[in-house]
This record gives sequence, structure tokens and C-alpha cells, in this order.
Amino acid sequence: MTQAIEAALRKRAQELLASGEVAQVIAWGSGRLTKQTAPLFVTTPEQADTIVFNDYCVNALAKYAFTERDAGKLAVCVRGCEARGINRLIADKQIEREQVYLLGIPCQGMKDRLSDEPLAKCVACTHRNPVIYDELLASEVTVPVVPVPQSAAERFAEVKEIEAYTREERLALYNDAFDRCIRCYACREGCPVCTCRECFVDQSDVGWQGKQGNTDENRYYNLVRVFHIGDRCIECGECERVCPMGLPLMTLNRKWIKDLDELFAAGEAGLTEELDNALGHYDVHDVEEFM
Ligand code: SF4
Ligand code: SF4
Repeated sequence: MTQAIEAALRKRAQELLASGEVAQVIAWGSGRLTKQTAPLFVTTPEQADTIVFNDYCVNALAKYAFTERDAGKLAVCVRGCEARGINRLIADKQIEREQVYLLGIPCQGMKDRLSDEPLAKCVACTHRNPVIYDELLASEVTVPVVPVPQSAAERFAEVKEIEAYTREERLALYNDAFDRCIRCYACREGCPVCTCRECFVDQSDVGWQGKQGNTDENRYYNLVRVFHIGDRCIECGECERVCPMGLPLMTLNRKWIKDLDELFAAGEAGLTEELDNALGHYDVHDVEEFM
């Protein structure tokens, strides 16, 4: 299936660039290491043959529709994760729908290039087929290689396990994780929802975030990041994948998502291009037991 998608991608990229319909195609190319791929920005029809699509296309591409938004009309490859990211960017008014041409790719799930095991973020993925596209390059996935989590119980199983810990156990668990954070901000850079022009951590004059690398400052960064993304997180898992220190960022994200789901029936983010997030509007029936 991946070979057929790769051929279709190359063909359509070549056609879209040759006709001038798009200025750039955002896809994947070969990396420097075995089984490694990297985001690829194709601007001429001749470069289209360097596009690859295989089981190791681990980078999610939605963020680049934001970073490349001034480069003219973009064709973007969208699997389930990218499609939800694009919806979120449109809903957050970071890009216009007309700015992107979406090449839909049904996805079987990607593999870790070192272990050849299914990637953790793909095991947890609930939408293998793109939820928005202009054309679909293959038939939708009906029997994914990696099963899709079927229920909220399955999706939030790890969160529930940690909720059962004592307060001290939870603090020890996360302090251990925050201790390891080196504040490289890779989690922020890869996230399609992190689109502030200037991040609070970079505002050195107001002193929101100290520059010291210690547990308190690291905890502050990570918790503000989670709260800020809040109900807009599309659960693409890219933040956790790119973290060089292996922090369990998705457990933090999903705790927030689970609470919002229980309090406001928030559901999953990024399924439509409408502004549908629970914290984005007020309802007189909203719960307010914290008042
Ligand atoms: S990617 Fe990991 S180490 Fe880097 S800032 Fe984010 S949590 Fe910290
Ligand atoms: S916080 Fe992580 S999982 Fe959520 S949208 Fe950003 S990169 Fe994806």
C-alpha cells in the first residue's frame, strides 16, 4: 500500500507544481540514516521524485502548513493526525482553508526505525483516515495493522492508573519526569497547536519563565504548556515523540483532555474546521463547582 501511495504522491506533486496550482508540496523525503525520513519541501516538478512514503514517515506535517503559510498555496500530505492539525489551524485562524490543498493518505500506522515496532503515537491513534482532504490517494483503511483504541476507557487507561496514585506518588512521578526536561522546546516546535507569535518562555523582560534548569521551572513550563494547549490538543503525540528526554507528555495532555471531556463533553479536537473547543465559548449550564 505504501508504494502505491508514494507513486501517487510523486505524480500529484509533479502535476500540481507543473500547473502552478500550488507553490510548494509538503511531504517526506529520505533521511540521512537507515529507514529514516524527514519532512520535505518540494518546490519544482523535478523534485517530486524525491518524495518517499513508507512505514517510517514518523514526522507529522501539519505544523509546516503554519510555518510555510507565507510561501503561497501549499499542498500538504494529510493522514489522520495531519488532517486534525490542519482543522485546528483553520479553526484557530492561523491558516485559511483556501491556502492548502490536502492530499489525503489513509494510514496503517508508522514504525520506530530502530525497533521496527509500531510507533507509540500510532498505537494510540483514533483516526487513521484523514478527516479532511481535497483528494484521497488510496482507499480508506478499514482494517488497520495496529488496532484503533475503541473506547474512552482504553484511551484514558494510563491516566486512570495514575489518578489512582496518592498525591505524593503523583508528585514523585512527575517531578522525576520534570527533572529530566532540558527545555529544548522541541515539544513546542513540533506541535501544530503551538502557534503563538511569541511564546511566554521567550518573554525574558516580564519574567514569566526563569532560565534556570531546575524542577520548579521545568514543571512550570510543562504545566503551562499543557494548560495553554488545553482543549485544542489533537492527540497527535508529536510532542512526546520528539522529546529527547522521553517525558510522558501524552499522559499529561490526556489528563487534561479527560477532565474536559467529563466536565464539558469536550470530545476529540480537530475533527472539523469549526471552532468547537469547550473552553472557547461559555454556556450558562457549564459546571462551575470550582467557584
Ligand atoms: S521536548 Fe522534552 S526535554 Fe524538550 S522542552 Fe519539551 S519536555 Fe522538555
Ligand atoms: S500537545 Fe502534543 S499531542 Fe497535542 S497537538 Fe500538540 S504535539 Fe500533538
